[in-house]
Amino acid sequence: MGPDFVKTICPYCGTGCGLILAVRNGQVVGCSPDRGHPVSKGALCIKGWTAREFIHHPERLTAPLLKKDGCFHEISWDEAIDLLVTRLRETVDRYGPRAVGGLCSARCTNEENYLFQKLIRIGLGSNNVDHCARLCHGPTVAAMGHALGSGAMTNPIADFAGTNFILAVGSNAAETFPVAMGELYRAREKGAQLVVIDPRTTEMAKNADLHLPLRPGTDIPLLSGMMHHILSSGLENRAFIEQRTEGFSELAAYLDDWPPERAAQICGVAPELIRHVAEAYAQAPSAMIIFCMGITQHACGTANVYAVCDLALLCGQVGRPHAGICPLRGQCNVQGACDMGGLPDVLPGYQKVEDDWVRMRFEAHWGAALPKEAGMTVTAAMAADDSPIRAAYIMGENPVMSDPDRRHTIEFLENLDFLVVQDIFHTDTTRLADLVLPAACFAEKEGTFTNTERRVQRLRKAVQAPGSALDDLMILCRVGRAMGLDFNYADSAAVMDEIASLTPSYGGISYRRLQYKGLHWPCTDFDHPGTAVLHQKRFSRGRGLFVVPEYRPPQEAPDEHYPLVLITGRMFCHYHTGTMTRRSPSLHREVDKPFVEVNPKDAERRGICDGDRIRVETRRGAISTTARVVPKVAEGTIFAAFHFHEAPADALTNNALDPVSNVPEFKACAVEIAREGAC
Ligand code: SF4
Repeated sequence: MGPDFVKTICPYCGTGCGLILAVRNGQVVGCSPDRGHPVSKGALCIKGWTAREFIHHPERLTAPLLKKDGCFHEISWDEAIDLLVTRLRETVDRYGPRAVGGLCSARCTNEENYLFQKLIRIGLGSNNVDHCARLCHGPTVAAMGHALGSGAMTNPIADFAGTNFILAVGSNAAETFPVAMGELYRAREKGAQLVVIDPRTTEMAKNADLHLPLRPGTDIPLLSGMMHHILSSGLENRAFIEQRTEGFSELAAYLDDWPPERAAQICGVAPELIRHVAEAYAQAPSAMIIFCMGITQHACGTANVYAVCDLALLCGQVGRPHAGICPLRGQCNVQGACDMGGLPDVLPGYQKVEDDWVRMRFEAHWGAALPKEAGMTVTAAMAADDSPIRAAYIMGENPVMSDPDRRHTIEFLENLDFLVVQDIFHTDTTRLADLVLPAACFAEKEGTFTNTERRVQRLRKAVQAPGSALDDLMILCRVGRAMGLDFNYADSAAVMDEIASLTPSYGGISYRRLQYKGLHWPCTDFDHPGTAVLHQKRFSRGRGLFVVPEYRPPQEAPDEHYPLVLITGRMFCHYHTGTMTRRSPSLHREVDKPFVEVNPKDAERRGICDGDRIRVETRRGAISTTARVVPKVAEGTIFAAFHFHEAPADALTNNALDPVSNVPEFKACAVEIAREGAC
């Protein structure tokens, strides 16, 4: 008998490509692209093609594990759930609800994230719920939410192909969103220009018409210089500004101080190039801005995103097909985890926890009181010397590798009275846990993911989870019931029905409607077709708001001890902390070891040759790794990917936070390197 075929969604980046899993005898034996998928249209990148390789890996967690005398022992689910509930409740009784915190997951489904935040909020009475959007697009949610009324991509990925001009700011989409990048290549074939602003000569930059290699952390001066030139040349879109925006005079007054010459002195890009790009963007019939963590992971991340919004509003390049602002979201369901209220200040649909009416509505539906004050962000909770958190529940996240300043993160987690981690493999974080719960992976459960363009899509179960592992939804239902909550959901579809009833932007979403192509939110009722392009007649907040972007240079400047700047990021064949991709033999073959990119001049000065072992050191720690001497990093900077636990980049990074979103400054800290020996 031939295999069965199951249509589902790639578990990696936020593009949300369609996969078809071939299943025989309870095993996934093949993985191929879904030609009818509306986003990927039959394409996959190397990660998607190989997404089945970790599913049946022998290291999958298969039973609940309790740590005793430093070693893990298998226990039953009943014992595990009982212990989890007892210890979390004890913490609340002893220290109050603000002493517990939970991390939901950008890799879990919408339904799981919804139940997780509901559990922490009404089961434990705490708004201390967060997830790894705090490490990437927190500034996007804050700034675009404030300036436009919605903190998400304004246009669908397919719109890239029809635009005339693409400005990519701090985005290496060619490596990190390869299938979405295909639409950019289609645009270029039709004559669109691609300009890339990035300190590194990334794959994206190599494919650009023009690359502006700015100094790390100087995006605001560069964008302000562009806006100054647009205004002084009369290239702004006056009609759009008058009819659809507010706050223009404050921005115009601020821009007086940013002639391209001044901007150039700070960002290192020649003033004539600043002028040239400004004119091209403003005069393009339609233009799109793409941005990623190159601008968000800074201590001025929120202000960086404001500057991007200001530029688009100034030129009227938003609110139309093929003209918009596109923050590409890095993980399969990071958009959905935010939408579901996996954040300390908002309930599902970005409804503020501090709004009495919002709380009353949720309380009436959930039948329980909600805490009134916003909770703590995970980065603020971990950075605080006197953090109130005494116990934590982590679902599908690995903060020991993903959060800044690894030594500090480990100290924080080791000092907790109780830590429970739910995951599919052991990670650097599960090893610190008191209790580990084995979860199901993407191929073993039903649910939905919301991709980077706000498209809600069905994830379908192909095989059973190994051993006694359960899907996160089932685990949460058992925990909820043990806490005395009404978590008696028949299935994930029933959870989506509850989400739709409480979340206006998901109000028209049901599994029946998601059968084929998914739906873009906002989709407010069951007759609504979904919204591919936002802000077409009015912004979600009414008028688009210009906000003055306050420039703050990187918080740790190079000095005589640490004279270089470290930039961290991703590479094409690995994903996040590597839990899945580093267990994929094909991806492991592509890149199996960590390395740091060093500019040839910096290497020569230190006697470092390509392939040498080097020590990389910052004020927070040091790692030993291999040097790749390449001109793609500018003199004075080095680059490290953060996928490798044997040389963890987060041992080096700075936990200086953006004051608005609390995103750490992963993209710039002071560092020094030294040769350890030949490879
Ligand atoms: Fe998966 Fe992203 Fe690659 Fe598509 S582009 S196959 S979603 S990793």
